[in-house]
Amino acid sequence: MKRTALFPGSFDPFTKGHEDIVLRGLKLFDEVVIGIGRNARKERYFPLEQMIRLIEEAFRQYPAVRVISYDDLTANVARNEGARFLLRGLRNTTDFEYENGISQVNRYVYQEVETVFLITSPLLAPISSSIIRDLHRYGQRVDEFLPYKLAE
Ligand code: ADP
Repeated sequence: MKRTALFPGSFDPFTKGHEDIVLRGLKLFDEVVIGIGRNARKERYFPLEQMIRLIEEAFRQYPAVRVISYDDLTANVARNEGARFLLRGLRNTTDFEYENGISQVNRYVYQEVETVFLITSPLLAPISSSIIRDLHRYGQRVDEFLPYKLAE
C-alpha cells in the first residue's frame, strides 16, 4: 500500500524550512501532499493561487509531491486523500505545545491517522512565514528564504 503523508499548513508563504520538511518526508513516504488550509475568515498575504503555482514550480522535479488547498478539518482531508500520515515540522517548544493539541484532535477525528514530526534543520529553524511577511511588507528582499522566485 502506498504511504502518503499530508503536510498541512498555511504556507503564507511556503519557505525553505517547509521545503526541507517535504524533502525529508520524501525519504519516509511514497508521496507527500502539501495541503494549504484555506480559512475564509483569515485573509492571506500571498494569494492562494500564486502560492500553489510557486510551490508546484519548486517541486517540478518531484512527481511524488502534489499541492492541494482545502477548507475542511485537516484529518478529514487526510482521509479523503488516502493519507494515513500527517507531516509537521517542530522548531521549538512553542511549536510542540501547539502541535501536541492538534495531533490529539486529528486522531479524534480520524483514528488511523498518525502525525510524524520532523525536527527542523538548525539553519532553517529561525525562518517563519510571519517574519517573511513582515520583511516583504516593508520592501526587504526575502528570496534567500524561499525555494522559488517571487515576481519583482
Ligand atoms: P500553520 O499555520 O499550520 O502553523 P505554517 O505554514 O506556519 O502553518 O507551518 C506548517 C508546518 O511547517 C508546521 O508544522 C510548522 O511547524 C512547520 N514549519 C514552519 N516553519 C518551519 C521551518 N523553518 N522549518 C521546519 N518546519 C517549519
